[in-house]
Amino acid sequence: MAMMNAPAALSSERFLAEAGALLGPKGLTTDLERMDAWLTDWRGRYTGRALALASPASTGEVAALVKLCAAHRVPIVPQGGNSGMAGGATPDASGSALLLSLRRMNAIRSLSAEAGQAVCEAGVILQALHEAAESAGMRFPLTLGGKGSATIGGLIATNAGGTQVLRHGTMRAQVLGLEAVLASGEVLDLMSPLKKDNRGFDLKQLLIGSEGTLGIVTAATLRLLPAPIGRVTAWVGLGGIIEARRLLGRLERAMGDALEGFEVVPAHCLESVLAHQPGARAPLAGRQAWNALVECVSPSQDSATLREALEEALAAALEEGLVADAAIAASDAQAEAFWALRDGISAAERAQGPAMQHDISVPVERMPEFILAAVPELEAAFPGTRAFGFGHLGDGNVHFHVAAPEGAVRGAWEENEGKAVSARVHDLVTAWGGSISAEHGIGQMKVDELARLHDPVALAVMRQVKQALDPLGLLNPGKLLHAVSPA
Ligand SMILES: Cc1cc2nc3c(=O)[nH]c(=O)nc-3n(C[C@H](O)[C@H](O)[C@H](O)COP(=O)(O)OP(=O)(O)OC[C@H]3O[C@@H](n4cnc5c(N)ncnc54)[C@H](O)[C@@H]3O)c2cc1C
Repeated sequence: MAMMNAPAALSSERFLAEAGALLGPKGLTTDLERMDAWLTDWRGRYTGRALALASPASTGEVAALVKLCAAHRVPIVPQGGNSGMAGGATPDASGSALLLSLRRMNAIRSLSAEAGQAVCEAGVILQALHEAAESAGMRFPLTLGGKGSATIGGLIATNAGGTQVLRHGTMRAQVLGLEAVLASGEVLDLMSPLKKDNRGFDLKQLLIGSEGTLGIVTAATLRLLPAPIGRVTAWVGLGGIIEARRLLGRLERAMGDALEGFEVVPAHCLESVLAHQPGARAPLAGRQAWNALVECVSPSQDSATLREALEEALAAALEEGLVADAAIAASDAQAEAFWALRDGISAAERAQGPAMQHDISVPVERMPEFILAAVPELEAAFPGTRAFGFGHLGDGNVHFHVAAPEGAVRGAWEENEGKAVSARVHDLVTAWGGSISAEHGIGQMKVDELARLHDPVALAVMRQVKQALDPLGLLNPGKLLHAVSPA
């Protein structure tokens, strides 16, 4: 046995020596204590092992390292802030892969308010970009709960969404230029932010959302917008999800481009948060079957003007009976308190017991019908469970959770009935023309489900692209697509 392992051990020793010489002591470690925090995903569902943790400091170092990995056939797992929800940045248990962290590459190379652009290295943390943009009188129009950890490289690799997609689109819409290291170690430089460019395939879009399987993102040119001068936030009580969809259409017309967020919260989710979150207070008197958190933001209209327009639209909806009640935040602090209720749902629901969580989308106009059909179907198929959807109704994307029956044992339930629950949810979503991953990606969590449910022609094309760009199969193997043996 020892003899059989000897050549592999020898070659990994040689690889580590060469990588250490390339990156220096700050750039490479095999110390388990230093690696430990990065070997388990944010949700704590996956834990892996790694040959070493590499933290290159420049695109040149990434390129040289990737070449070295190709020469030694060492698989690479790229990692940013490790805040991903699908286990995409966690290596497998074999310990053969190199964990490649981009966190040291955290420079904002330039930021121009005039051009409306920021040039960032992959390891820049989203919050840091927000702060830099703000100090230049600008904003980066994408935000999400993990902004204190998520990096630009990770956001690009997962095509992240968040709470402003309704108005500004996902990460795809924010990336004007991209720099990436390919599996060959070559640097693909697409950083020039051309508004019009018809020289064939848009390769940067191919890399966005590829979850580290086609290349390592090292930098990006990102779009900035003028900072808003006006903001108004409202909490609206509604009789049902159909009414929520109708209100969304109404506000899109009344508020135009200013409508930036439209999140829905069913009554019991709000109740869970109120019970779980210290100091949380219900924005409205009485129980509303559904609630909508509405946010309008403008770079040209002040808060008073926006408030007047929103009040008028909500008053008309109240008069017609579309809306049951509404509260407009009187201050920034109150607006933040409304958002804290929305952002607290996942933690509050987690505290109640085991649940299967699904990040799904269907066409926006079909989402209410989907929720009304899927909730009773799931609850009937799995007696004792409680199904509910909440979140980004304006994007046709809800987090569809199915909570375990009372008394279910955490861990065991997810492994058994929970898997059947998820398969049923994914079957339903697919039948409704939707997606089993709206914004969190596939990672290792949904790789079997993608293979089972995605269009076979689309899957075949994805495999051909992977084969063409990564013939040795070394970039994040087993994520997004099943790993295949190298050609
Ligand atoms: C509290 C909380 C709320 C969240 N809310 C949302 C939300 O509303 N919407 C949403 O979309 N996401 C959300 N997320 C998920 C997460 O923040 C995003 O998926 C984010 O894009 C991950 O960035 P990261 O730097 O942490 O990437 P990681 O988790 O480190 O990696 C994610 C994937 O990208 C790959 N990757 C990372 N960096 C690179 C790179 N430089 N080049 C190539 N591949 C790379 C990894 O291999 C992995 O496959 C939330 C997370 C948390 C913790």
